[in-house]
Amino acid sequence: MSARTLSKTSLLVLLGPPGSGKSTLVTSILDATPGLGHFAVRRQFVEEKSKQTDLWLAAAESQEKGQWLPDEVVIEAFSRRLDAQLPGGMLIEGLPANAEQARLMIEVVAGRGRQVDRVLYLDAPDEVCMARMRKRSVCVTCDGGISQAAVSEADPGRCARCGSALGRRRDDHDGPFAERLRLHRHHIRGILDELCHEVTVLDGTEDRGEIVRAAFRQLS
Ligand SMILES: [Zn+2]
Repeated sequence: MSARTLSKTSLLVLLGPPGSGKSTLVTSILDATPGLGHFAVRRQFVEEKSKQTDLWLAAAESQEKGQWLPDEVVIEAFSRRLDAQLPGGMLIEGLPANAEQARLMIEVVAGRGRQVDRVLYLDAPDEVCMARMRKRSVCVTCDGGISQAAVSEADPGRCARCGSALGRRRDDHDGPFAERLRLHRHHIRGILDELCHEVTVLDGTEDRGEIVRAAFRQLS
């Protein structure tokens, strides 16, 4: 089997600006690939917080100030998840967020005799990402308020799955979101240089179904 083909042992990195539609793509890839693990920085630290782990305590101060998580804490979380998942593969989301994290991530992966098999980059212009963010509503009950919730048809203010009132992410407001976009654009070239990998670019301006179809055309 080619390492380029998606399987439950693949190591995939999914990159893209905030609001480019990564969550939808993640769900589709995981649904289509039973056994493939998932490491998402935001999700991981919601879990670390709920368990009050050493990693959460190490990250808490920067999280509460709305700052970036320290690189070494993110990498430690990643390496623990990877060790628990190997020899299975993993879809990696939200990491690396800068060139240093890219360098460290590759070190961790190589140290376990593996390599990153695929790098997907879901891109969209800032105004598209911003417009998506403004429409995004999340459910704290279902997933800690991370990704777009299933909106109830009967009551668009409620989650279709659990009935809880929907809300917005704390950082889903124009100012903080614009800053996240700016940081992403600032760091992406350094990340890609560090990854030294052929990148599959996907057009995040397409509708969700087409993004997923394009990704699977590239992954199969
Ligand atoms: Zn819910």
